Amino acid sequence: MKETRNFIGGQWISAKDESIAVYNPANPEELVAVLQNSSTEEVNLAVEAAVAAKEKWGFTSGPDRAKCLEQAASLFEKYADELAELATKEMGKRLAETKGEVYRSAAILRYFAGEGFRKSGELLPSADPTNLFFAKRVPVGVVAVIAPWNFPLAIPVWKMAPALVYGNTVVFKPALEASATGARIVEIFSEAGFPPGTINLVIGRGSRIGDAIVDHKQVDAITFTGSNEVGSEIAKKAAARGAKYQLELGGKNPAIVLKDADIDLAARLVVEGAMKQSGQRCTATSRVFVEKEILSAFQEKVLAEIQSIQVGDGMNPEVTMGPVVSKRQFNSILRYIETGKREGRLLTGGKACEGLDGWYIEPTVFDRVRSDAVIAKEEIFGPVLAIIESASLDKAIQEANDSIYGLSASIFTNDLSKALYFIDRIEAGMIQVNGETGGAEPQAPFGGMKQSSSGTREQGQAAVEFFTAYKTVSIRSH
Ligand code: NAD
Repeated sequence: MKETRNFIGGQWISAKDESIAVYNPANPEELVAVLQNSSTEEVNLAVEAAVAAKEKWGFTSGPDRAKCLEQAASLFEKYADELAELATKEMGKRLAETKGEVYRSAAILRYFAGEGFRKSGELLPSADPTNLFFAKRVPVGVVAVIAPWNFPLAIPVWKMAPALVYGNTVVFKPALEASATGARIVEIFSEAGFPPGTINLVIGRGSRIGDAIVDHKQVDAITFTGSNEVGSEIAKKAAARGAKYQLELGGKNPAIVLKDADIDLAARLVVEGAMKQSGQRCTATSRVFVEKEILSAFQEKVLAEIQSIQVGDGMNPEVTMGPVVSKRQFNSILRYIETGKREGRLLTGGKACEGLDGWYIEPTVFDRVRSDAVIAKEEIFGPVLAIIESASLDKAIQEANDSIYGLSASIFTNDLSKALYFIDRIEAGMIQVNGETGGAEPQAPFGGMKQSSSGTREQGQAAVEFFTAYKTVSIRSH
């Protein structure tokens, strides 16, 4: 059992109010962590510490900031087993998945360490040739990092790494279901040499401390990943006081399988896209449009793939699908499954796993689903896939685009011109051809279209746009 505290100005500090107990979703009897139930008071202290540290960190050189990121990357690798185990016990994802996230976090840190050595502005031609004219990138200031639970390591890191390397200081609020992991990340960052006050951690319920963070006048920017409900409120509040904000939100990601596709590959990757992490990925495949000529062959192969899934505790290496994160999430998914039973035909799954004592749900597939059904429209965030018959590529694209979301999408085809036609027309920020809808790499921009995102992008060179501001400078030289 891990006892966590807030990390403020380089000190581990307890919140005044009583703590919150967190249990293992694979075994709800097992106490995993005791968390802080912070209030506005602790948020204010964390912001003050970040404000106090920002001048010095902002004037630290890029290469010196990079050393801390590089060191953090090595420490993530050193502590990989312990970190992965903590994350698995806290939020249920399989050990292989959390371990993958640890190494991915190290790669993100190394990528952004490199940013400490790259250009920090542009030299520009001026209308007056005697002017020295340039645009210099500067830190935004204090950045609030508000993260979800489903990528307990990678998402906080892909927000904090660019924030820090470009000279900002951070107030980090992990999701309650990932706070013990969040505290360990901050501990590692501190060991890596980030000075006191550059990274501050406040643990608590979003409903209790979210507003105190978002409304704080000295928080200059908010980077948020989570639900559309919370994200849209953050956008309104940040815009009202002129703070910068970045939102990465929900998805309802489609895959399209054309009749010329490799059906084995498509079935395997559609199932992987839908069921990996028990469907709790913003980029999970949740609807698949299949050309009618291959529908029954595809369904047969999907069923075979589903049968090979072994649900259980993510600590067991033989298990291929873990529990969902919490009782609340479990109940919400089961309600969608009941809706699905009225809207389509249940092909497989459809209930909680029998004989397992935890938040386990059977991998569930519906067919004969209409594209306007609730289960084809709303984000379920669980191991549920809807199969929709499609008459043509155009019809599939049109129905796939008929969504408030536009995060990721994939197509399975061996026809290059059809793949290119899809890329041009699909409304999604992340596109895969013959791949599953999930997947991101640190060097590439990540984010969605429409209501999946505020239109900003995370990671890659795109990250510099959010985490820095420009000062455009003109110097009359003679
Ligand atoms: P959530 O919105 O419930 O919580 C996200 C974070 O916001 C948590 O830290 C939470 O404590 C905090 N929060 C809650 N209320 C708040 C408030 N009033 N003010 C400020 N902060 C508040 O989301 P979740 O359940 O943790 O995550 C699941 C959602 O995240 C899904 O919708 C998923 O699609 C989305 N997600 C999106 C991406 C992406 O990159 N697009 C990645 C992962 C998850």
